[in-house]
Amino acid sequence: MNDIKLALLGSEGAGKSAVLVRFLTKRFIGEYASNTNSLYHKRLSIDGRQLNLEVFDPCSQDFCVPPTPWQSEESRCILEEPLDWADGFVVVYTISDRTSFLNAKNILAQIKESRRETCKGEVPICLVGNKQDLCHSRQVSEEEGRSLAQENKCLFQEVSAAENYLDISNLFTKLIRNVMEQLKQRGDRRRYSGSKSMAKLINNVFGKRRKSV
Ligand code: GDP
Ligand code: MG
Repeated sequence: MNDIKLALLGSEGAGKSAVLVRFLTKRFIGEYASNTNSLYHKRLSIDGRQLNLEVFDPCSQDFCVPPTPWQSEESRCILEEPLDWADGFVVVYTISDRTSFLNAKNILAQIKESRRETCKGEVPICLVGNKQDLCHSRQVSEEEGRSLAQENKCLFQEVSAAENYLDISNLFTKLIRNVMEQLKQRGDRRRYSGSKSMAKLINNVFGKRRKSV
């Protein structure tokens, strides 16, 4: 069984939880717990292969801002943890909120930076422009999103967690395929085996809350 670890990153309110819950359950609920970090588990099958998917959905803005000199060691550590742990990333912004787009840009730069030395190939990432249904108050054009994704060699899709399941599902599937390909190339699927199990690490760092869907 392959273990696939994804982390969602993006501004608070961008719709990270909504996008993830849509993928995992096909539903849109509207309001999501926003004060806890959650680790979701799901078994799924892609291209006939059984996968054990773990997705880290953080609540905190600590994940969204670049570390600055005045930040404590602790918050730096929290920022770096998912960057280190995940095999792939879903970076979410809101098309009607330019700040969230700029934030996504920062996050992409941080992911690249943190992986520069450890990762030979590209890090699988998808950039998601969420809340496409709010296009009447759009602040980020689709073209801007696409070119940011191209610069960073990541997948890109505008979606609406509120209105559409298929785009989100297809996007996650593509990302997971990329991750599987990467893991195969690196041939080190057991990196985090044994005592370094990330579920444990995350529990230690972020508390015990875990969800199964
Ligand atoms: P997170 O902080 O990034 O996890 O964001 P949430 O998933 O909690 O979503 C923040 C708010 O945006 C919630 O009120 C959601 O109902 C809303 N939301 C999420 N996705 C969409 C969407 O696609 N369209 C619209 N109109 N609202 C959305
Ligand atoms: Mg959330």
